[in-house]
Formats: sequence, C-alpha cells, structure tokens
Amino acid sequence: MLQLHDLHVGYGNLEVLKGVSLDVQAGEIVTLIGSNGAGKTTTLTAISGLLRPRRGQIIFDGRDITRVAPHEIVRRGLVHCPEGRQIFTRLTVAENLRLAAGHRRDRQAVARDMERVFNLFPILNERQQLLAGMLSGGEQQMLALGRAIMSAPRLLLLDEPSLGLAPLVVERIFQVIAELRRQGVTILLVEQNAWYALQFADRAYVLETGAITLSAPTPMLRNDPRVRAAYLGA
Ligand code: ATP
Repeated sequence: MLQLHDLHVGYGNLEVLKGVSLDVQAGEIVTLIGSNGAGKTTTLTAISGLLRPRRGQIIFDGRDITRVAPHEIVRRGLVHCPEGRQIFTRLTVAENLRLAAGHRRDRQAVARDMERVFNLFPILNERQQLLAGMLSGGEQQMLALGRAIMSAPRLLLLDEPSLGLAPLVVERIFQVIAELRRQGVTILLVEQNAWYALQFADRAYVLETGAITLSAPTPMLRNDPRVRAAYLGA
C-alpha cells in the first residue's frame, strides 16, 4: 500500500533522512522506532507531503505521490495524525471534527463517521460544544485521533499517540487504534514507547540517524539483543 524508496529529506544544510526505504502492506500495523532525533517525525511529514524529499520516491496505492500536494494526499486516504495533537484550541470539539471532514462530499458518510468517533470516545460526545483548548491532554489526543477518523483514512500515520499521557488513557488510545485496524485501516505508527509499539505492531523498522538499521516482524525484534539493549532497557 505504501512504499518509500531511498528517501532523502533534510532541513537547510541538515540531511536528516539518508536513504530510507520501507513498505507497509494493506491491513498491517507497522511501527517505526528509534531514538530522539533519528528522523521518525521527518519521515511521516515527508510521506504526508508537508516536506519535499531531495531524492527518492513515495508510492501510495501504486501511484507516485512524492510531489503531490498535502490536501490531495489526504483526499486519497493517507491521513497524518501529528505529534503534539495540533487541534484548533479555540474551536469546539464538534467544529474540530467537522473541519477535518471538510474535503468530503458524502455528508451521510461524514455523519456516520461522527457517530463512530462518539462511539469510540463517548467523552467527546459529552464535550461536543466545549472549546478544544479546555480538554485534558488525554482528551485532546482522543480528539486528534477523532479528527484523523473524520478524514476517512485508509492509511493512518500516527506520531507518538501515547506521548505524555497517563497509562489508562494510553490503553484506551491503543484499543481504538486496534479497533480502527479491525475496521480496515492500515497503520504506520511512530512511538517513543518501544515496548508498547513492539507489543502492538505486526512489523517494525528501527531508524538510527536517518537510516533503517533493522526490520523484522515484532516478535523477532522483541528478542533481538541489539533492540533489547537500545530500546527495551534489557
Ligand atoms: P523525536 O522523537 O525527538 O521527535 P524524531 O526521530 O521524530 O525524534 P525528527 O523530529 O524527525 O526526529 O528530527 C530529526 C532531526 O531533524 C533532528 O536533528 C531535529 O533537530 C531536526 N529537525 C526536525 N525538524 C526540524 C526543522 N523544522 N528545522 C530544522 N531541523 C529540524
């Protein structure tokens, strides 16, 4: 469903991704782990079209999207749920959700997805008319995920959904991600909590200073001595 070929991405003189190649098959949960500054967020930002690669190719559904505009990439079903939540704090919960579906024509399908979000996160239903800035950190992450659902993703890029959240909220967020997969959404997950990511995903890539150094099904990586030493504190 998604392939990156030899992706080079940077900021000014700084080259961050130095030839990243990876793929995600339809129906999978794939995780990208790596230490701070390895280039995980940069990878997702490039896939969603917000950063132009210097070299390499991004293929989605068999079509080259390397130079396609971000809004068109979303329209095709590749949706990015960014780190730091990035919701509109001065708009209500309902307005945040509606805006995320702004590009969709089928109003009935949008209404169904709004119901779906409220079923997954009943607290957002209760707080529909509240300004998003008044929500707790966990509720804001739920809203960010709700916004991603409203964009009708077939492939969802998730950047650190557990960051700064209490364990119970993290549990809920991951239950919802698992539910989305059951509903047919494919997922590429960046997660600083490597232990969690390696329990949850089917396959993983390890990114170190802008290059993929390991990739395997997660049960194998959980037992890999290099991964255990570097990322699992074992
Ligand atoms: P983290 O877990 O800390 O978010 P990461 O693996 O997601 O790490 P990136 O955020 O992709 O890493 O950052 C990779 C490198 O690119 C870092 O050295 C960072 O300082 C640099 N970088 C990121 N964004 C920018 C930017 N907008 N301008 C300049 N340099 C940047």
